[in-house]
Amino acid sequence: MADKLTAVKGMNDLLPADTHAWEWFEALVRDLMRRHGYRNIRTPIVEPTALFVRGLGEVTDIVEKEMYSFEDRLNGDSLTLRPEATAGVVRATVEHNLLYEGGKRLYYMGPMFRHERPQKGRYRQFHQIGAEALGFGGAEVDAELILMAHRLWQEIGLTDVRLELNSLGQPAERAQHRAALIAHFEAHADVLDEDARRRLHSNPLRILDTKNPAMQSVVESAPKLIDHLGQASRSHFDAVRAILDANGVTYRINPRLVRGMDYYNLTVFEFITDRLGSQGTVCGGGRYDYLIEQIGGKPAPAVGWALGVERVLELAREAGRWPSAPVPDAYAIVPDAAHLPQVMALVQHLRGAGVAVQMHAGQGEGMGSMKSQFKKADASGARHALVFGEQEMQAGCLTLKALRDGQGAQQQVEISRWPEWAPALIHSPGSG
Ligand code: ATP
Ligand code: MG
Repeated sequence: MADKLTAVKGMNDLLPADTHAWEWFEALVRDLMRRHGYRNIRTPIVEPTALFVRGLGEVTDIVEKEMYSFEDRLNGDSLTLRPEATAGVVRATVEHNLLYEGGKRLYYMGPMFRHERPQKGRYRQFHQIGAEALGFGGAEVDAELILMAHRLWQEIGLTDVRLELNSLGQPAERAQHRAALIAHFEAHADVLDEDARRRLHSNPLRILDTKNPAMQSVVESAPKLIDHLGQASRSHFDAVRAILDANGVTYRINPRLVRGMDYYNLTVFEFITDRLGSQGTVCGGGRYDYLIEQIGGKPAPAVGWALGVERVLELAREAGRWPSAPVPDAYAIVPDAAHLPQVMALVQHLRGAGVAVQMHAGQGEGMGSMKSQFKKADASGARHALVFGEQEMQAGCLTLKALRDGQGAQQQVEISRWPEWAPALIHSPGSG
């Protein structure tokens, strides 16, 4: 036998035992987006490396050490598997002039790639769902996005997700704060780790995002950006808060919340849970009013968030909010393969009418015994068996047998009259 090939480390297969939950979640999100007026956008998985270097910032974890970049051997271009999708959505928005008639509300779903150390809740290929509102500068859109994510937790039934909020202000305010921050960290240079020392002058804000326990106290005592905010930034923040308050959404202001990319300004936020260990951030986002311009577009404000699908689903599983796997409405049992053409003609009619029918399938020779077919029907979870026995078929009939509720109850029905009896077989998903 040939050697087995395995998946790339940190890149997971999603198998049928779980994918129904992914589909359930994706359907829920699509409907949520529809109700909030967000339209789907699908951008390529591969983008020019320069997009991320310019968009996310050179001195960020992602750009420094997490990107899958490679040279296109055919023309020497440097390309990168997208580590996140905001930069690509902005590129597409600019490239296709989507803001020509005003703001756009967009959402996406799909795989992202980061070369991280794989562990629970942290993978090298993972999936994000994100929402972006481009061309809108008002605080009400920040609030709308936060409320939309909050509603999503409610609709899945997650109660252990808390909201943290901060404002990163505007570039001038950040410059002031940055100077104060450098002075603070220089005064405590002895406790800085290698990463922090390297970033001290290139990107000191990023030091606040450290996960190094030895640096927590120097980070705790660092000057807070929120104390350097001017009137306009402060009132934007207050306006977001007022809308959240009116909606009964609780939050904690976390002055040290900075997020992993450089493109943010004003509002930033994260939804966090304690139920997933150290990989507790399920969703993060904020305003990025300068990114569109940085990527070559006409200056326009924007705000968005992204959630990690693996983490949200893990949380749903923990919380007992895992949907049950789909089962067929009916399982077709066919003792004699000679009847297959007629049976399958009927089964296609039933499927066309909305009945989920699973056909028994043989191993190659014949269909197998009635007993083994009934066993498979049971194992499938089907609510009914459609039994196409010899005698029934002679009479143009089949036997409809209940396998679950009213177990054992059976009746003969005429094949040609399927439009009359088929609708009663349909069991809508989620109805118990
Ligand atoms: P973390 O602090 O956990 O590294 P991040 O700040 O890098 O997260 P973002 O870039 O803001 O994360 O991405 C948004 C969301 O995507 C995260 O909140 C998380 O749920 C998810 N996510 C990010 N990286 C991974 C990964 N490697 N594996 C699984 N999910 C991830
Ligand atoms: Mg990260």
